[in-house]
Amino acid sequence: MTKNSPVSRMDELPIRDELRGKSPYGAPQLDVPVRLNTNENPYPLPEPLVRRIAERVTEAARHLNRYPDRDAIELRTALAAYLTRTAGHAVTTEQVWAANGSNEVIQQLLQTFGGPGRTALGFEPSYSMHALISRGTGTGWISGPRNDDFTIDVEAARAAIAEHRPDVVFVCSPNNPTGTAVEADTVLALYEAAQAARADTAGALVVVDEAYVEFSHHPSLLRLIEGRPNLVLSRTMSKAFGAAGLRLGYLAADPAVVDAVQLVRLPYHLSSVTQATALAALEHTDTLLGYVAQLKGERDRLVAELRALDCQVVASDANFVQFGLFDDAHAVWQAILDHGVLVRDNGVPGWLRVTAGTPAENDAFLDAVRAVLKERSLKENKR
Ligand SMILES: *Cc1c(COP(=O)(O)O)cnc(C)c1O
Repeated sequence: MTKNSPVSRMDELPIRDELRGKSPYGAPQLDVPVRLNTNENPYPLPEPLVRRIAERVTEAARHLNRYPDRDAIELRTALAAYLTRTAGHAVTTEQVWAANGSNEVIQQLLQTFGGPGRTALGFEPSYSMHALISRGTGTGWISGPRNDDFTIDVEAARAAIAEHRPDVVFVCSPNNPTGTAVEADTVLALYEAAQAARADTAGALVVVDEAYVEFSHHPSLLRLIEGRPNLVLSRTMSKAFGAAGLRLGYLAADPAVVDAVQLVRLPYHLSSVTQATALAALEHTDTLLGYVAQLKGERDRLVAELRALDCQVVASDANFVQFGLFDDAHAVWQAILDHGVLVRDNGVPGWLRVTAGTPAENDAFLDAVRAVLKERSLKENKR
């Protein structure tokens, strides 16, 4: 870091102590031919949907002199219908809440249930934003354990919850960056442990982040919210719906949780344009889920072909694959990038993550890995 860089000057500002010297979330947005690093859907929205968005946004534009529907009733009703149809459990509008990306959903949950003097616990490696948003909301962060194969060890997890008595527990299923799905029994065990550990209060909030569940071999855990007022499911349109640019995330939970987040949400947080666009996308659910089916096939092909190259691969329920094991994962990341393919180095020692792209992008990635492995084995032989 140079002396005059924005970061060093930032530290001269009277910023909060816990933010001092920290870096923001920053997956590189590099201009390379094949970008497989942020788990986006590689397929642009289909033209009929693009036209439908234009229609709905035009209609919304006629009323932009007014604030949007603060409660986003029409959108939440459409999201509830989508969940009811696809996740094997009926939910109502009152059980669904929407915001600008599931990151904002998570922020609203932490503002409501975390905050100064409170803690959140997640099982790492996992989605780094759970920890970052905790920090941003003044919530203490506790890193819980995982097995070597990246599954959650129920006994170790129970022990961590009993010891730290967190106010919020994050369970990411399928987990980012490993692709690991979490069984319903595990979530139930963690829920019970979290409630028992905070029996002194009204219990603890358990957030199941299902950003990738449409890609999973396992069904959604939506049904578990029934009769469990402290269980929240978080979802997004950024991945399966191919709409990362839209910024639309949502949660399903007891209606009381939806009421509670109203206490912290900014008034009119979800613009009329966003609501109109999301409603248009939901009209095209079946087409978009068709792309998901193709991507699942490509994900399975990546797993098989990487294994054939003697890479270790973690079984994936998501639209990405974690592969390794490398002595120097960052050097391999750079070498793959030198072949024009951007993957993700999440800092998990020995491992890299690749997002399933189009068949052609995946071919380019596999060619790059083949070339890199060959270059590196030549280097080894010369030593
Ligand atoms: C990508 C991702 C999200 C999505 O965030 P948005 O704000 O909805 O784009 C949420 N959780 C996990 C685990 C993710 O990987």
